[in-house]
Amino acid sequence: MKFKISRSAEDIVVYQPGKPVEELERELGISESIKLASNENPLGSSPKGLEAVRKALSGVHRYPDGGGFYLKRRLAEFHGMAPENFTIGNGTNEVLESIAHAFLDPGDPVVFSEGAFIVYLIVSQLSNCEIRAAPMRDYTHDLEAMAGLVCERTKAVFIANPNNPTGTAVGEGALRRFIETLSGETLVVVDEAYSQYAHREDYPDATKLFAEYPNLIALRTFSKAYGLAGLRVGYGIAHPDIIEVINKVREPFNVNSLALAAAEAALGDEEHVSRSVVVNAEGREFFVREFAALGIPFVPTQGNFIMAEVGDGMKIYEGLLREGVIVRQVGGYGFPGHVRISIGTTEENRRVIDSLALLLGK
Ligand SMILES: *Cc1c(COP(=O)(O)O)cnc(C)c1O
Repeated sequence: MKFKISRSAEDIVVYQPGKPVEELERELGISESIKLASNENPLGSSPKGLEAVRKALSGVHRYPDGGGFYLKRRLAEFHGMAPENFTIGNGTNEVLESIAHAFLDPGDPVVFSEGAFIVYLIVSQLSNCEIRAAPMRDYTHDLEAMAGLVCERTKAVFIANPNNPTGTAVGEGALRRFIETLSGETLVVVDEAYSQYAHREDYPDATKLFAEYPNLIALRTFSKAYGLAGLRVGYGIAHPDIIEVINKVREPFNVNSLALAAAEAALGDEEHVSRSVVVNAEGREFFVREFAALGIPFVPTQGNFIMAEVGDGMKIYEGLLREGVIVRQVGGYGFPGHVRISIGTTEENRRVIDSLALLLGK
């Protein structure tokens, strides 16, 4: 190629999505495969969300509401805050990218964990930031080590709580102590994509913490518990001063009309969320029991996925593909001996365990 590409494009790590079922079946000429690779909701979408999509279809010749008025009003009601506390994005991913555009300049130091959600690295690379990643401790964010990497120039720290792919979460006391070590000029991004599944008693609700820490932004998504991953809606909650800057840099029509309608309706679908949480808890307990019985070490999870130590992660990932089971290979996160399995339906979970037992000769 004759063009000289940007430094950020040259450096960037490429996000590896979970393999779609259709792709695997096309490649191997097999059928009836299952995908437990992207932490999607095994119960599907919120039925109320889907109904709202059908109704909204007749309006798609119009541009969406660029300000997301109704969804923000509904979010404000749901969280007990004001619409000015919200920014909506094309998935949490886009909110993360907008945060980078809004606050990060080339050379700015940013801090996160080595095993953190890879999108923090990607958006930091896009902004040519100086990346400071702290090793994890017991597969968990080591907030003290992270605090040690922060300097007065540090613009942002990113914390996924629970973290993907490890599934671990930090408690409220540790999170508060960490934030209190920072200057008010360092933005703290707390990504709560899996908050509904977190079950440790001292799990902090970051959506409430920005009242005390105006440098904090909490992120949530409709992709997981609400089952709307394909529509792409996520949001940020923070002090209006932070929200205003993010809204300034985001695309004018970043969330489409079907997604806006679905998210607004899904927020009122407590039943779907609670059913999803129950099914997830049952699946989590099943994996814990089966891994213990088979002697497969695993990382206790606060999410809707679980990381198991299988020896050669790539080999087992590929072996599972041949069995028609798609999981996630996590070598790129620094865990070459593990695979990450999304918790599915009872039948899907049973099938992963049977295939794993077969491959590991257990
Ligand atoms: C899945 C996930 C998200 C959600 O991303 P969307 O763009 O909203 O689909 C955000 N953060 C983490 C850590 C995730 O694993």
